Amino acid sequence: MARIKYYYDTETCKFEPVKTSTTDIVLNLAGFFIFSLFISIGLVAFYVNYFPSEREAELAKENQQLLLKYQILNKEVLASSQMLRKLQDRDDNVYRVVFEAEPIPMEVRNAGTGGTEKYRDLLDERLKREDIILNTFQKLDKLKKQMYIQTKSYDEIFEKAKEKAQMLASIPAIQPISNEDLTQFASGFGMRMHPIYKVMKMHTGCDFTAPSGTPVYATGDGVVISSEVMSGYGNQIEVDHGYGYVTKYAHLSAFSVRKGQKVKRGQKVGEVGSTGVSVSPHLHYEIMHNGNKIDPVNYFFNDLSPAQYEKLLEIAKQERQSMGGGE
Ligand SMILES: [Zn+2]
Repeated sequence: MARIKYYYDTETCKFEPVKTSTTDIVLNLAGFFIFSLFISIGLVAFYVNYFPSEREAELAKENQQLLLKYQILNKEVLASSQMLRKLQDRDDNVYRVVFEAEPIPMEVRNAGTGGTEKYRDLLDERLKREDIILNTFQKLDKLKKQMYIQTKSYDEIFEKAKEKAQMLASIPAIQPISNEDLTQFASGFGMRMHPIYKVMKMHTGCDFTAPSGTPVYATGDGVVISSEVMSGYGNQIEVDHGYGYVTKYAHLSAFSVRKGQKVKRGQKVGEVGSTGVSVSPHLHYEIMHNGNKIDPVNYFFNDLSPAQYEKLLEIAKQERQSMGGGE
């Protein structure tokens, strides 16, 4: 049985029973429901937030692992960049210097790595870490570009090295007569008393005294540009080695090569003789560089021990003690 509530009516001065309308009941009930609903939502939100579901926990763990992997990847990219940096330094400061190539300017090495727009398609809008992914792609892009430039540089250096090898094979670098055949290194480059004209005269080459018929060798790779009889030099051969170098072999008794023929270093070009202005069999050997006659003694690198080389230099200084004679 429902409890009856009363209220005091000041007009009638009596207690009158309270009449509850249906509307009041409905409103009260609705209020109670809304209040309960808010409390429930609050409780659920609190629970979800502080007590994640198994699936959510898994996802969170996966996220952590992905982040860790990203950090490792990022470190790898950084390490690769640093390694490439070292290669670039060595390239600019050692290889390119050795082979006389200009260093590659920084702006070329870091050349435009292209916009990031091309990777936009790869990104899912739901991804929250799109920036770090973009960032990694950018770094990798830059790295790839720099590596490409580096390989181009190595190609260039390889070409230069081949050229250098060709140059080293061509530049005069041995004695034109083998040490075993050499009787005497008779006269060096410089002023001396001419053995025939008996006046001080510039001697523009080296004289090697050796028996007639001793083989005379090309001192570097090249092309025979002259194989002829001259009044002073007698039978002479000239070889053009390129790179501004020409060698002359004079007073020969015989020619072993003809004009236009390619020769290798150490290839026999003729035989020692005493043709032209000469008093006894010897080879007069000259090196011209860019048209100037230079001292050949600085170009006998390959076939002498350091002691022999020193001795040769010593003898070359005593240029006035001429014994071979002639040009
Ligand atoms: Zn001479």
